[in-house]
Amino acid sequence: MRPRTFTYAAPATIAEAVAALQRYGGEARVLAGGQSLVSMMKLRVAAPQHIVDINRIAHLDDIRIEDGKLLIGALATHDAIENSPLVRSECPVLAETAGHIADPLVRNRGTMGGSLCHADPAADFPLAAMVLKAELVAQGSKGTRAIAVDDFFVGFLTTALEPDEVLTAIRIPRAQARSGGAHMKLSRRTNGLAMVGAAATVVLDENGHCVDVGVCLGGMGLTAIRAKAVERALRGRRIDDAAISQAAQLAAEGTDPPSDVHASAQYRLTVAPIVAARVLRLACERAGARL
Ligand SMILES: Cc1cc2nc3c(=O)[nH]c(=O)nc-3n(C[C@H](O)[C@H](O)[C@H](O)COP(=O)(O)OP(=O)(O)OC[C@H]3O[C@@H](n4cnc5c(N)ncnc54)[C@H](O)[C@@H]3O)c2cc1C
Repeated sequence: MRPRTFTYAAPATIAEAVAALQRYGGEARVLAGGQSLVSMMKLRVAAPQHIVDINRIAHLDDIRIEDGKLLIGALATHDAIENSPLVRSECPVLAETAGHIADPLVRNRGTMGGSLCHADPAADFPLAAMVLKAELVAQGSKGTRAIAVDDFFVGFLTTALEPDEVLTAIRIPRAQARSGGAHMKLSRRTNGLAMVGAAATVVLDENGHCVDVGVCLGGMGLTAIRAKAVERALRGRRIDDAAISQAAQLAAEGTDPPSDVHASAQYRLTVAPIVAARVLRLACERAGARL
């Protein structure tokens, strides 16, 4: 199918992009890598009257350290993130996650900003962003604001962005000593969209106790979900195999997975604790835990 007709603008600055979005009053969509938006337009799941292409805006694909944090420009592609030496050293789990998305064609065009704004509950970057406690920087007609990632995903394919806001960057704290992270997913095809996805980060003290932990699941509801019960069960505990297995049993708590063409809800509920245990074990090993 072909998309419905639309007007096309390719502004050179964020201010111009914001002005265009404001002018179109909710009838426009930002175009980043187009890997989700264009398919949705062809299927007419989305039919925006106006497209605001942000690809000509300089420096939106930067990857650098700023104010002590790793800054990923919204237009940094999955491929650039996977292969960035800076991301690999400062935030290896983000590079790992990028490498688990789709195939080289999609990774060459798709952007981290686009993936977060698309807010697919089965997508991979939202999980990494949540366990990494990312902050999302948005610019709109009322100025610039930072949104904590836990407040960003508000529903199925829906974010906290206002219609005239552009996501410009993702800020991520740099990895600490004795910390580790991992991303995994169960999908029908290698690197396909997850039936159940999971990301975890853990920080240990010198005695192997868990100082901080983040665990998030994908494919288990309308948004990416923080596995709060698992986090609570591990925080402060000495990390060993039993602690991880017991905590991971709580992974499905508070989730409401769908039954769809990929998997039944029951299957997702059954495998979520297994995926959570695996991803936690790998994160803990990378943090230096002896399991
Ligand atoms: C064959 C295939 C397989 C895939 N497999 C996976 C997978 O395994 N895992 C996975 O996570 N993803 C997968 N994807 C999705 C892919 O990662 C997309 O790249 C991503 O979802 C969207 O990024 P994009 O840059 O292409 O955004 P676009 O498609 O351009 O935009 C997506 C949405 O976000 C909005 N948007 C984009 N950028 C901004 C911004 N800066 N500010 C405000 N709004 C913005 C757009 O208006 C649109 O609504 C797959 C896609 C395809 C085609």
